[in-house]
Amino acid sequence: MLQMTNIGKTFLTGQVQTKALDQINLEVDEGEFVTITGPSGCGKTTFLNIAGLLENATAGQYLLDGEDVSRLGDRQRAKLRNQKIGFIFQSFNLMPDLNLFDNVDVPLRYRGLGRGERHQRIEEALTNVGLWSRRKHLPAQLSGGQQQRVAIARALAGSPRFLLADEPTGNLDSKTAAGVMSLLHEINAKGTTIIMVTHDPVLAQNSRRNIDILDGQIRDDARRNTAAVA
Ligand code: ATP
Repeated sequence: MLQMTNIGKTFLTGQVQTKALDQINLEVDEGEFVTITGPSGCGKTTFLNIAGLLENATAGQYLLDGEDVSRLGDRQRAKLRNQKIGFIFQSFNLMPDLNLFDNVDVPLRYRGLGRGERHQRIEEALTNVGLWSRRKHLPAQLSGGQQQRVAIARALAGSPRFLLADEPTGNLDSKTAAGVMSLLHEINAKGTTIIMVTHDPVLAQNSRRNIDILDGQIRDDARRNTAAVA
């Protein structure tokens, strides 16, 4: 479970202060699928970066699974992030010179897992996204949708409890995007909590919970009782 109380984030660039987030209060329960919307510059990525332990807030308290992670040092944050969080990005962020197998292997090596376990996890993750047979290929030899599926495999190989996604379908045509979304829903149905930033109003409207941000604050937190999914 993720709990934020009065979370704020102010960037200081030279003399200029930018308040990216202000008084964010929210709880996200185990197994939720939450979409995050709002205009450009409203603070969505900053929110995701704090939620995903990429950076600290400058105000407020953040509890992750009951543990206060508000002011962790870089190394502690990285360790916890590696244990609990998976990320996927609009631009996939795969390493161009590594084949798919080795791309998925990167965070597992970082975690210090042994060779046998890494192989097993990589095979399972790439099989899950239908790309095990392509494991020797380089990212450039795949379509955008396939590259995003590799990024999802890489995020999931570490068995994260939380999957954070920043516009994961933003670079994909609508049919490919639908495939990636249905994969994310399968992952969510198996228990992974997903928080996804999107600019797509249809995904947000169909989401069971959508949090809309404006000027660094939560403007709306809407839960819908719908069978339709994000
Ligand atoms: P977009 O939809 O365009 O990606 P966003 O909603 O994700 O935007 P953020 O990237 O979170 O918005 O940025 C929120 C505000 O914080 C913006 O005013 C941005 O310029 C500022 N900001 C973000 N990162 C930094 C930084 N490292 N240093 C200074 N200001 C920053």
